Amino acid sequence: MAEITRNPFEDLGRPMLQLKRAGTGNPDGQAAAARQTLGGAIAGELRTHNRRPIGQDRREREAVFAQHRPAGQPRGIGQPPQAEAAGYGWILGASCHGGFASRAMDSILVRGGGKTMAVAKLDGSPAARLLAWFDRHRRRLPWRAEPGEAADPYRVWLSEIMLQQTTVPTVAERYERFVARFPTVERLADAPLDDVLHAWQGLGYYARARNLHRAAGEIVRRHGGVLPRDEAALRALPGIGDYTVAALRAIAFDQPANVVDGNVERVVARLFAIEAPLPGAKIEIRQRAATLVPSLRAGDYAQALMDLGAMVCTPRSPGCLACPLAELCVARQRGIAVELPRRAIAKAKPKRYAVVYWLERDDGAVLLRRRPENGLLGGMIEIPSGPWRDAAEEPDESAGAAPARVQWRRLEGVVAHGFTHFDIDLVVLKGRVTAARAPEGLWSHPKDFHRLAMPTMTKKVVEHVLGRGWRRAKARDQATRRAVSG
Ligand code: SF4
Repeated sequence: MAEITRNPFEDLGRPMLQLKRAGTGNPDGQAAAARQTLGGAIAGELRTHNRRPIGQDRREREAVFAQHRPAGQPRGIGQPPQAEAAGYGWILGASCHGGFASRAMDSILVRGGGKTMAVAKLDGSPAARLLAWFDRHRRRLPWRAEPGEAADPYRVWLSEIMLQQTTVPTVAERYERFVARFPTVERLADAPLDDVLHAWQGLGYYARARNLHRAAGEIVRRHGGVLPRDEAALRALPGIGDYTVAALRAIAFDQPANVVDGNVERVVARLFAIEAPLPGAKIEIRQRAATLVPSLRAGDYAQALMDLGAMVCTPRSPGCLACPLAELCVARQRGIAVELPRRAIAKAKPKRYAVVYWLERDDGAVLLRRRPENGLLGGMIEIPSGPWRDAAEEPDESAGAAPARVQWRRLEGVVAHGFTHFDIDLVVLKGRVTAARAPEGLWSHPKDFHRLAMPTMTKKVVEHVLGRGWRRAKARDQATRRAVSG
């Protein structure tokens, strides 16, 4: 009897079923499919299966298995001849093997040619429990491979960059549009940066979009348009840090990498009852998390942990009753789950202040400018402003920063916007200029603003000046464009 090191929840059911269908009466096809099935499964190339198509088969197999298990034999280990005789075996190939695969409660075995080819026992580890849960409860997300499919590294990369500090619902809304516009690395690399920034609107942090664009160029130039599997090569790409490297290795390439995002931090802190506050506890959490990573189905495992954090082990009300890790969870046992992870008391965010100059030409166009490529909101289009200061100032003091010598009128109120590390209050001054005296620069009519890569802060300024009418004009224009193109 040969034993293999293999996660017992590795799927065999789906490929076996496909094999059964595809191979009938075709010895060549059966042999090829058998090689692909067993070789692929053991090499860990297969992913979680979708139980729906084969759920009934599985239940029947397990029922027969349980019924015919010899007395005293550990559950799920051993030859179940009655099961095979009852037609629950799988024919793997005319010249190959007679085989049987079963997903019992505590083991899985693969038999061929009258002997056991592989046996693996369930070990009750967090990874095994999580994977079993994932097979039933995984989230369906637009960027995720379907069960049984290999992941598309390009899509995984896009989604991981988009999901950095942006919520799943926000990304889900925009992801398909982005992929439709840039379906391949090559198309992304070839696109003008402005198009990429425009498509990125609503996803925050435009530096990520710029890095994505640069990285696409490097992938095309250095790696023939294929995202590299190698850790060092991934790390060398713009915008890819430790977390993203780990996520890509695991989810795109199924390599056993330690993927620790906010959801995972929470689950691991609770599982091991790590009471030290974040961010100081990050190192211990990472170390603990690394001990859980399985060698097989690493991509599914990483996503399972994320899904558990998002769906069950939620920040305010962990659903311990439905949690596959409940028996192992120390925080649950101590009754402190909801208190973890603890956080060091956050410092108040600093506040900044600036004056924005809304300069309108007599034909209605407004003066805009592009922000420097590097830094906050790099490359985005904005309404010109004075320097961002740490203290509030009277608008007159900023006159030197104004783009033209005209009569400026202060609009009532301020535009408040929050960045991650600081908040900003913007005072808006409005002025008019004739075409003859208008300064050089980027002029655009407000009805065309929605075609520009404007950050949310600038859109708030536009709305402050023009009111909701601006958004209605934008909607009208988009409807007209759709009607024309349709
Ligand atoms: Fe989170 Fe509760 Fe599961 Fe522990 S048992 S990991 S606290 S949901």
